[in-house]
Parts: sequence; structure tokens; C-alpha cells
Amino acid sequence: MGKYVIAGNWKMNKTPAEAVELIEAIKPLVADATCDVVVGVPFVDLPAALEAVKGSKIGVAAQNCHWEKSGAYTGEISAEMLKAMEVGYVILGHSERRTYFGDTDVTVQKRMRAALDAGLTVILCVGEYLEQREQGITGEIVAMQTKVALGGVSEEELARVIIAYEPVWAIGTGRTATAEQANEVCAQIRDVIAGLYNDKAAKAVTIQYGGSMNAANAAELLAQSDVDGGLIGGASLKPADFATIVAAAK
Ligand code: PEP
Repeated sequence: MGKYVIAGNWKMNKTPAEAVELIEAIKPLVADATCDVVVGVPFVDLPAALEAVKGSKIGVAAQNCHWEKSGAYTGEISAEMLKAMEVGYVILGHSERRTYFGDTDVTVQKRMRAALDAGLTVILCVGEYLEQREQGITGEIVAMQTKVALGGVSEEELARVIIAYEPVWAIGTGRTATAEQANEVCAQIRDVIAGLYNDKAAKAVTIQYGGSMNAANAAELLAQSDVDGGLIGGASLKPADFATIVAAAK
């Protein structure tokens, strides 16, 4: 449906020197990629990563941004700062940010506004907790997260939003959603986009699956009709595994 995008989320891993080493290892392995490839690195790795990806097709993502341009927000990084560095992407609303750092649908919406205003492409993460899946409210949860985050986002701006469906129970647990579960929810998100915008926008939007995607299960997940890529945590730190996932995204 949408353009295939495989993005690595390195989380709080790798020093700048290690980031360069990892990118240098990934670069030749993804040189022939037919999808977009992105690495989401810690803030302090951004300068080194941006330098290391030069001459390759790999894009660089930050893992969060603040909604204000500048000000008294100790420890925060603004979208404007990312723009000034020529960072292309930012991951927003990751479940680890929501769970450990108090991010809410409303703050994700504010970050989204700032990121889009700064010209960044956003990877918006949505997904349900296990209890919510067991309660049968996965569709409502991801619809709510998607709708709030996209509040005020125009159809033109939507072209710079990638949505990552990441069931929280599958992140970093080794417990992957089945291909059917992943596809079902990605299709529900696409329906939400059709309702908010129109069918054309829904077909064009990239919807990734994330949650213990790895070299062994990527092909099946990525073959699903509504899965347009992946947000990859653990496996993105292993060059050969990441490259296998990229190669599976055709
Ligand atoms: C993630 O961090 O977004 C993620 C999907 O992690 P993992 O692949 O390790 O489950």
C-alpha cells in the first residue's frame, strides 16, 4: 500500500564511535535496498550518524523531540534543533516514552505539530497493552492514539507521517504478533486514516509493524497486505539481521 520503510530503533544503545561502526557495517548490506532505510539513534550519536550515512540511502532519525522551539526545558531537544542538524526523521510516541517518561496522546500530538512544522518526517508509534488486547479493545486504543496524534495534521503533512503499529506486549519480549494480528490492526489504522482524510491518503500512508520483528519472521510480516515496513528494535543492532529484514521489504 504505502512506501516500504524499514527503520531501526537503537533505543539507548551505542556511543558515537559505536554508532559509526554499526552504520559502516550496515551500509554495504543495504546498498541495493528497494525500500527506505532509517536508523533511529540516541541524540548524542546524531552528528556522527549523519556523517556516517553520507553517500548512502540510509536516513537518520532522532528518538523524540520537544514541542517548544526553545526555552526552559532542561534536558530536552527541540524539533528545530533536529532540523538545524538536518536530521530527517523523528520517532514519536514510542511505548517506552509513554510508559516510562509520561508521554500521552496529547503530548505526542504537540510533538507531532512541532516536528512537522520543522520539516521532519515522523514515525508515530501506536499500540495496545496486553490487557487491552485481552479486553478486545485494541482497535479502539490504536484508533484513539492515531486520531489524537494526527489532530491538526493536514493531508499534505500526512505525507511526512509514518505510522508504526507496535503492540506493547511484543516490544523487546521476543513475542511477535502473528502476521494476521499485525495485518488486522494495520488495516484498522488504515481505515482510521481513510475516515480522517480519504481513501487516497489511506492507501498512500506507510504503516509499519514493530515488536520483535527479526530476520526469521520479517518476510511473513512484511508480506501482509497492510504492513508497509517495520520498526525494528533489537534486530536493528545486528547488521546481518537488519539487512535481512531490509531485503524482505519488497
Ligand atoms: C521497538 O523498539 O520499537 C521495537 C519494536 O523493539 P523490538 O524489535 O526489540 O521488539
